[in-house]
Amino acid sequence: MPLPDKVHDVVIIGSGPAGLTAALYAARAALEPVVIEGTVDGGPTGGQLTLTTDVENYPGFPAGIMGPQLILDMREQAERFGTHYVTEDVVEVDLEATPKVLRTASGAEIHTQSLIIATGAKPRRLEIPGEDELWGSGVSACATCDGFFFKDKEVVIVGGGDSAMEEAIFLTKFASKVTVIHRREELRASKIMQERAFKNDKIEFVWNATVAEVQGENGSVSNLVLRDTVTGETRDFPAEGLFLAIGHIPNTWLFSDVLDTDEEGYLLVDEPSTHTNVEGVYACGDVIDQTYRQAVTAAGTGCRAAIDAERWLAEHTSVAPEDPR
Ligand code: NAP
Repeated sequence: MPLPDKVHDVVIIGSGPAGLTAALYAARAALEPVVIEGTVDGGPTGGQLTLTTDVENYPGFPAGIMGPQLILDMREQAERFGTHYVTEDVVEVDLEATPKVLRTASGAEIHTQSLIIATGAKPRRLEIPGEDELWGSGVSACATCDGFFFKDKEVVIVGGGDSAMEEAIFLTKFASKVTVIHRREELRASKIMQERAFKNDKIEFVWNATVAEVQGENGSVSNLVLRDTVTGETRDFPAEGLFLAIGHIPNTWLFSDVLDTDEEGYLLVDEPSTHTNVEGVYACGDVIDQTYRQAVTAAGTGCRAAIDAERWLAEHTSVAPEDPR
């Protein structure tokens, strides 16, 4: 469906569960939302969920559902009520203009009264030699997606938080041995997750160490170079897989000069609403959340953002949209 050439009521940047839920609610409020479903730094259209396999904790699916299918279904559901999709990256925004202006990679300009930012967060990388070359060939930031390929292999996971513990435990379903490498001698993870990991016979820990280099042969990982964070000494550590669980970086570079962020770069909203510090601009999903980061919590804030935008439009534009909810 071609995009109507007009000032839109609501544009949503991002097509994960937050963006698509915002679209569903905005569409059902007859706002004809536009979802810009570009990629962020080569990340997936549809967000992190498209990189997962079985989703067993999204309510309403007693037998589970595949992540990519869940996104396709959400997309179709929002489309049914009049959502338009633009499959392009946004490269520049002017949030202080009236209406707000978004420029896409092809040079198109999209004008909108209100904007919902649902650009998510991407996994942090180590930025060490070999990481880019072996990314997807033994180096991964998604144990859920790639663990299956490491049956009976020895793998390493870097990080000391809840994600690292959860993913280490998950990897023991496949790998013969999982070594957690952490840069300090104390984990950041919650006590319960620590205990579960400590109890697992297949998990070992290397403390006070970082991975300084990842080496491979024939397109797969064969060795890591570890650096001791106390002595600075390096040593070889043979491994066939390297998983990273060192946190996420919110996708906010487009907005960070205008919108308020916390120290980690996550957008700040006026909780419990999704208002940012710029009028008519809302944010939802992982881009505002470093704590829960679940599909269902992202969807929840997406719903809130659409309702916030709808109410703002009703107050600030002459024709109040009907509300068929
Ligand atoms: P996190 O808590 O920020 O932990 C990131 C870990 O990576 C930290 O241990 C950090 O080390 C380490 N790290 C960061 N940069 C590094 C680098 N360049 N090199 C080596 N290590 C590095 O992130 P997370 O584990 O993804 O958790 C995020 C949030 O989600 C947390 O609030 C967590 O509780 C929640 N979560 C909960 C569950 C659960 O309850 N089941 C599961 C997953 C996530 P330092 O400790 O030294 O800083």
